Amino acid sequence: MKSILQSLYLLQLLDTELDDLRELRGDLPETVNAMGEDLAAVEQRIEEIEEALKRSATERSLKEKESLEMIAKIEKYKGQQLEVTNNKEYDALTREMESAETTIATNEALIQEWVEQNVDLKASLEQFTAKREELVKDLEVKREELKEILETTAEEEINLEQRRETAVGELLPRDMELYSRIRGAKGKAVAPIRRESCSGCYNVVPPQLILEIKKNDRLFICEHCGRILVSEEIAHETKI
Ligand SMILES: [Zn+2]
Repeated sequence: MKSILQSLYLLQLLDTELDDLRELRGDLPETVNAMGEDLAAVEQRIEEIEEALKRSATERSLKEKESLEMIAKIEKYKGQQLEVTNNKEYDALTREMESAETTIATNEALIQEWVEQNVDLKASLEQFTAKREELVKDLEVKREELKEILETTAEEEINLEQRRETAVGELLPRDMELYSRIRGAKGKAVAPIRRESCSGCYNVVPPQLILEIKKNDRLFICEHCGRILVSEEIAHETKI
């Protein structure tokens, strides 16, 4: 029985150590992931803006080319008007010229619209580019931080995990179940007696019960906090 109590207490010590290690790592892995996702979103946005700018430049040059063609046509029609022999032909050329002028005006309006849009797009691009630089820098710092913590804790964690497995292997399933249940509710499942009190809840343990616990031949539960009580002797003998 004593060995079961020792294994339970050892398990408690190992779990506390593992909790501390994981706490040291904290939410850094999640933070790094979230920052990576932010960066991907910003890069996506930059790509979209660059695409939009490229598209409007292409469309603009097409429209400018078309307008130049219209100007040339108008010049040509003007020349032809001087040579026509009847009103019908003259009017037909006038309509052609008007249509070309309409096209030029429409193109100018479109180009003006793109120019305004591009001002906004370029401002956004500048903002997102600055944001990207900031994120890349921050992410690098956090990744380095995480890498260092993982490097310093990984070996220790593996070692503790292995020893935990061994301690678990020495316990009966029902003891393990009890341990897990209390740990789930209280964080720490095993409380050694200290100064005649339960070290989990600091309530005094009656002297008669302390004598019983000292025998290390039974499992006692603190009536106040529900933790497994072990003797000072067990706590003293069991070290990680
Ligand atoms: Zn207690």
